[in-house]
Amino acid sequence: MIIEMRATATSKQIQQVIARIKSLGFDLQINEGVKRTVICVLGAGTGVLDKGVFEVLPGVEQVLRIQKPYKLASRDFKKTNTVVKIGGIEIGGKQLVIMAGPCSVEANKSITLSCARVAKQNGAKILRGGAFKPRTSPFAFQGLGEDGLKILAEIREETGLLIVTEVVDKEDVELVAKYVDILQIGARNMQNYRLLTAVGKTHKPVLLKRGFSATVDEWLMAADYVLQNNGPSPNVILCNRGIRAFDNSTRFVYDVGVIPVIRQLTHLPIITDPSHAAGKFQYVPDYAKMAVAGGTDGLIIEIHPNPKEALSDGAQSLTFSDYARLSKELKIIASAIGRSI
Ligand code: PEP
Ligand code: MN
Repeated sequence: MIIEMRATATSKQIQQVIARIKSLGFDLQINEGVKRTVICVLGAGTGVLDKGVFEVLPGVEQVLRIQKPYKLASRDFKKTNTVVKIGGIEIGGKQLVIMAGPCSVEANKSITLSCARVAKQNGAKILRGGAFKPRTSPFAFQGLGEDGLKILAEIREETGLLIVTEVVDKEDVELVAKYVDILQIGARNMQNYRLLTAVGKTHKPVLLKRGFSATVDEWLMAADYVLQNNGPSPNVILCNRGIRAFDNSTRFVYDVGVIPVIRQLTHLPIITDPSHAAGKFQYVPDYAKMAVAGGTDGLIIEIHPNPKEALSDGAQSLTFSDYARLSKELKIIASAIGRSI
């Protein structure tokens, strides 16, 4: 349920509504908009949730039931687009944000460092690289763990790029949050609710990938788990990265068509991962261009100085020259739709 306060509502009136919600045993989240305050009533509560109880309180404009299964992520709760701000960078604004880097951080630091330099030269603001890898096979390279985080932190010092990396386990959240700027939740963990709650509590920006068998409703309910623990500033960036369907000509079926759907249903920004959707480097540039033309707020792209030797996802990693060419083309497409990179 959403309680929209009048633009003229006093803070005392808002406090009165909050006290009433709490007295019924419910939780709440407040969206202090520019024009008015909106309060979202959450949880199971102990009392009966009756619209009339709130409608009669002074300062209340209207009380609405949210029809969608997700609440905090919904446009009903927050009408204006959320812009996630991280160290001078805005995700969800006019400027697209590009993240690039290797799939995994490897022991040879120069691999990730060279990716970072090339990414920066071509306009990327954020370096990606996995230190804890969610590998489908237990025998595949699992990542360097904290040593990988240290390499990422050093490269941030050297290049000024911000860092995004995946956290795969609730127990590692504090450690990973100490080193990096954005916590990535991978497709395989999108419905790991304890992990979502834990990353939410850090209040750090969370890049939430779509599970490859998740519906949009399920994805946005996963976002609600993070948002519920975020406090007043929503800090979730959605990321489409391909889903499972019958066709296996690409690694996943590219869900680029979800971008305008997300735009309509939620206030959260969305960025796109063309690399994991395609699975083959040959398709990545076209996939990336489609996303920019289709209104994505940013891209996360895998690159490697020598893809054939990469410890993970070499087949979908772009060489530096392919990445540089793509970056130029993306700038042209972005400007054609009134945005920039
Ligand atoms: C990754 O970004 O390297 C990754 C494992 O992505 P996903 O969770 O989308 O498979
Ligand atoms: Mn990868």
